[in-house]
Amino acid sequence: MNKVEIDWTRCDGHGLCAGLMPDDIVLDEWGFPVLRGREITTGELPDARRAILACPALALRLTSR
Ligand code: SF4
Repeated sequence: MNKVEIDWTRCDGHGLCAGLMPDDIVLDEWGFPVLRGREITTGELPDARRAILACPALALRLTSR
């Protein structure tokens, strides 16, 4: 099961991720991401990987458990 995780030691609230992954991430009132906790399907993985690489702080990652 693939999910998105945030490395809070890196994230500095650019907010870009919510625009790139609106089904998975919303922003809180301070502009920091909140994960919806949704599973990333196999078909969604290429787009998810592109969005993760677009994070300026490299704070996003995919986990599979
Ligand atoms: S784009 Fe990256 S640094 Fe910006 S809010 Fe999202 S996870 Fe944090």
